[in-house]
Amino acid sequence: MQSNDGAVSRETPSPIGESYADTPIAAAAERASQVLTPGAAGTLPRPPRPRVITVANQKGGVGKTTSAVNLAAGLALRGLRVLVIDLDPQGNASTALGIDHRAPGINSVYEMLLDEVPLRDAIQRSPANENLFCVPSTLDLAGAEIELVSVVARESRLRNALNDDVLAEMGFDYVLIDCPPSLGLLTVNAMVAAREVLIPIQCEYYALEGVGQLLRNIEMVQAHLNPQLHVSTILLTMYDARTKLADQVAAEVRGHFGDKVLSTIIPRSVKVSEAPGFGMTIIDYDPGSRGSMSYLDAARELALQGARKDDVQ
Ligand code: ATP
Ligand code: MG
Repeated sequence: MQSNDGAVSRETPSPIGESYADTPIAAAAERASQVLTPGAAGTLPRPPRPRVITVANQKGGVGKTTSAVNLAAGLALRGLRVLVIDLDPQGNASTALGIDHRAPGINSVYEMLLDEVPLRDAIQRSPANENLFCVPSTLDLAGAEIELVSVVARESRLRNALNDDVLAEMGFDYVLIDCPPSLGLLTVNAMVAAREVLIPIQCEYYALEGVGQLLRNIEMVQAHLNPQLHVSTILLTMYDARTKLADQVAAEVRGHFGDKVLSTIIPRSVKVSEAPGFGMTIIDYDPGSRGSMSYLDAARELALQGARKDDVQ
């Protein structure tokens, strides 16, 4: 696993000299200037083929949606073409990406799953970035878990809509699928459509509660429906440096998952929770904030990890 410490920002040698350039302050200042002037931002490596990543944890409120949209925005800011699939009837990812998902008659992930509307007809561009796209969810999706039960190939509907050829044709580098807090048919569809699972884990009491169940479900999908599926990434979220507990949880998670855990940890920050209320990602809402910086770091780590062949095969 690469360190998040300035891995991209140091591609350009600092005129100020090695000693200053190696300090965390210099790295943070450089990141801030790149965020504030997106045109000047360095680019991240494109994966050899589109990476489809399911963001899942059946535990509610652990930062799935926040991580999906902010990682997506971080990747898009660095020149990658990114699609977010909002697979949660709550529609929080659509909201955070500034997509109007309540307008009557819009095509959404529901139509893609049940009426076989092609991906191209359900996509909207996020006002946040010209490289950032979303298939929104609508409240109709709330009925989909039940409606899907009786349809043909009910577990592979999303994969059929998102096959490699379609993604390559549309030039996507990353697809992030934001799952609802359950292990029902919607989440199974996400696991069948993806090669990778990213699990956000909140640095809180009972952080690993339910993760065993999630891993067993992933193994089941891998055994029966999608042999390529694997947990590629763990992201620690809502870290509060004031509590000892947060450090204990982080250490425990690293003990379990080793180098799958990104070295970047997302801090708890009010700004992060405010951003979706303005229909924005934290990277747009407050580019210089700790939350924005950490999601940019995490996006960079994710992209550099993806440059390693074994994670994307
Ligand atoms: P659900 O299971 O309901 O889909 P989720 O796992 O998608 O939830 P989020 O919606 O991303 O979780 O986050 C839960 C709440 O915590 C939201 O109100 C969000 O704004 C807030 N939140 C997420 N990350 C942070 C953070 N780093 N600091 C502070 N608040 C956060
Ligand atoms: Mg969510």
